[in-house]
Amino acid sequence: MAEKEYKLKDLPGVGTTIAKKLEDAGFTDLMAIAITPPIELAEAIEVSENVARKIINAARRFLKLDFDTALAYEKKRKEIIKITTGSKNLDNLLGGGIETKAITEAFGAYGSGKTQIAHQLSVNVQLPLEEGGANGKAVYIDTEGTFRPERIKQIAIAKGLDAEKTLSNIFVARAFNSDHQILLLDKVKELLAKGEPIKLVVVDSLTSHFRAEYIGRGTLADRQQKLNRYMHLLARLAEQYNLAVYVTNQVMARPDILFGDPTQAIGGHIVGHASTYRLYLRKGKKNSRVAKLIDSPNLPDNETVFFITSYGVSDKEE
Ligand code: ADP
Ligand code: MG
Repeated sequence: MAEKEYKLKDLPGVGTTIAKKLEDAGFTDLMAIAITPPIELAEAIEVSENVARKIINAARRFLKLDFDTALAYEKKRKEIIKITTGSKNLDNLLGGGIETKAITEAFGAYGSGKTQIAHQLSVNVQLPLEEGGANGKAVYIDTEGTFRPERIKQIAIAKGLDAEKTLSNIFVARAFNSDHQILLLDKVKELLAKGEPIKLVVVDSLTSHFRAEYIGRGTLADRQQKLNRYMHLLARLAEQYNLAVYVTNQVMARPDILFGDPTQAIGGHIVGHASTYRLYLRKGKKNSRVAKLIDSPNLPDNETVFFITSYGVSDKEE
């Protein structure tokens, strides 16, 4: 019994509460979950269909990978590292920070802080494990031309780090179109193959090229298919090399929604389903930022507040 519970909770995104709901509903092993339609699982354990689909996909993925000894399997799970965002509030919202072997998507309007978090993570990933880092280097794929070395320096110096050294641990590439953006993942693999200890891959932004290139071109199917493939490449990279992937996403206006937030992430379901964690960012009162976790299987859909200051992402106002 204890062993079965351990297995369920080992699914990325399944904590005590959902594990119990699963068991109560008769889903006592991964196979039972893997063969259940999302809508049915969603009803049985009272989560959204999107969350159910993530759990099912994880179960399927685990089963395929599962011809491992239990020991190797346990080791794999223990490898996951959580990189601090610089804000305890934000870290807590994410269950400890930005996870390796996962894709974290931040979406929100212009100026909501997506790029700032990307800069902060590129510094923080370099910290030792005990300080919330991953003792690694960062890759920054910049599609909008908003990467700023000066900002990296500013954040590094505020943390008492050597600015030059911090900069030299970040590989930056400007992606000029969506094909180039895809190709750059091969370059990341080459760096890894050369032994570079890359622990964070930033794609800022994930969707701007895809969006621009496919505007007004009949159906969205081609774009979605390409984006879908790209997300899977990212997920594989994260899993294979135990690294964290942080992607940013724009929102588009939804004039048809009169109440609530009239915005929606680009790429819709495709990006949403492939992301392990989705963070919705917006400006709050008095220069604060509000982060909301969306559709997370293990964590409640919660909100928290943080600040962007001259010294970086923080819980405290400047
Ligand atoms: P997004 O990528 O979501 O469009 P950004 O991450 O670029 O948004 O956020 C930009 C905001 O971050 C600015 O409007 C400003 O409030 C804040 N910001 C950027 N740099 C600094 C800095 N050096 N000191 C303080 N705040 C900053
Ligand atoms: Mg930006």
